Amino acid sequence: MNVKHKFTIDTAELLLANSWFTAVEYMSPDEEGVTRPAFSAMETQVLDYLADQARSAGLAVTFDAGQNAIFSLPEDANVEEYVLVGSHVDTVPMGGNFDGLAGVLAGLLCLIRAQANNIKFKRPVKVIAMRGEESAWFGPCYIASKALLGVLSGAELTSPHKNDGRTLSSHMSDVGINMEPIIAGKPLLKKEKVLEYIELHIEQGPLLIGKNMPAAVVSAIRGNIRHKKVRCIGEAGHSGAVPRAFRKDPVLAMANLLNRLDESWLTILQKGDDLVLTSGIVSTDPKRHAMSRIPDEVGFSLDIRSQSQDVLDAMTILLKEEINDIECERHVKFDLDPAHITPPALMDTEVVKNLEKAMSRIGLKPTTMASGGGHDAAIFANAGIPTAMIFVRNQNGSHNPLEAMKTEDFLVGTSIIYEHLTGAN
Ligand SMILES: [Zn+2]
Repeated sequence: MNVKHKFTIDTAELLLANSWFTAVEYMSPDEEGVTRPAFSAMETQVLDYLADQARSAGLAVTFDAGQNAIFSLPEDANVEEYVLVGSHVDTVPMGGNFDGLAGVLAGLLCLIRAQANNIKFKRPVKVIAMRGEESAWFGPCYIASKALLGVLSGAELTSPHKNDGRTLSSHMSDVGINMEPIIAGKPLLKKEKVLEYIELHIEQGPLLIGKNMPAAVVSAIRGNIRHKKVRCIGEAGHSGAVPRAFRKDPVLAMANLLNRLDESWLTILQKGDDLVLTSGIVSTDPKRHAMSRIPDEVGFSLDIRSQSQDVLDAMTILLKEEINDIECERHVKFDLDPAHITPPALMDTEVVKNLEKAMSRIGLKPTTMASGGGHDAAIFANAGIPTAMIFVRNQNGSHNPLEAMKTEDFLVGTSIIYEHLTGAN
């Protein structure tokens, strides 16, 4: 049987989704792209717009204790247990329109489709449009979901806003959130009542484009070890006068380290394990550096990510060993700043399997992939809620104005979730 017809694009849905995306984009313009700051009046305006849209479609709308918007079919408004579908509506400054918003609109469309077709969900469904997820505004990420699960720390609550310097806590209070339970670390939702958390998100890398696939199921969210500033200290000298044996060149030492890590990366991949590694910032001091001067110091960042905690642990040990080795060989000193560590979040194997089955029922080849970026889903997964994600193909990465998800692909991703919520496993 050809089951492809199940995700034939519905023109009315395509127009509706496009009108939502466009309306929210026009609401939050910037010099380039869109800007929807976390815990801002702009964010509230977007939530109010979505609430109006949902109400006029006959859906139930409430705002939870974190001032996130919650949508459901009217008959599911007061259910105890439910599957939660959603994402965030904030963006980075001058970001793209789809990161976050797509996951919220996918949930809304599932509700509207079920209502229009008079289809009952297998289990009640609630859709959440969350506030602040992006770390760009205060430093901490996944703020709204951390607050929901009672894991937003005191240090995070006092972190200052990048523009006005006021604390996260006071910005949250400004949008009407009662901060008492959050400060006390009390979860704002009963996590044992959340049967599953499902989040659709644009892919932030090029894998789906390479595979020519509109969407895939996410199997895990990579954890990371991040050193913002590693210093390698050597000794300055004249580039023409100091022979190799006498040099203490920190740039060559750093290059040596990165090369060694790169070789280990290849070995880890060949063993079938997951790893990505980046030094996004590399610099000698512009005040002191010159073409003809052996630099005395180089600073660089290290961002190491993997789905596997074992691989991250192994990389931590390897990094120290390679550093010791290179320090002896090249007479330099490495100075590692304290690592920022986020553990990997495994998606629930059962939910992943069921989403793969849903893919196959609507005529797609079941495909899974790892998520390189972090998402609210990681917070739900690490709180013990069975969690999975759908990635939708997207050109040009995310966190920039050039995000380019096709609405047709978005509807395919939405259909996978809809099929999972309504179809037989
Ligand atoms: Zn996002």
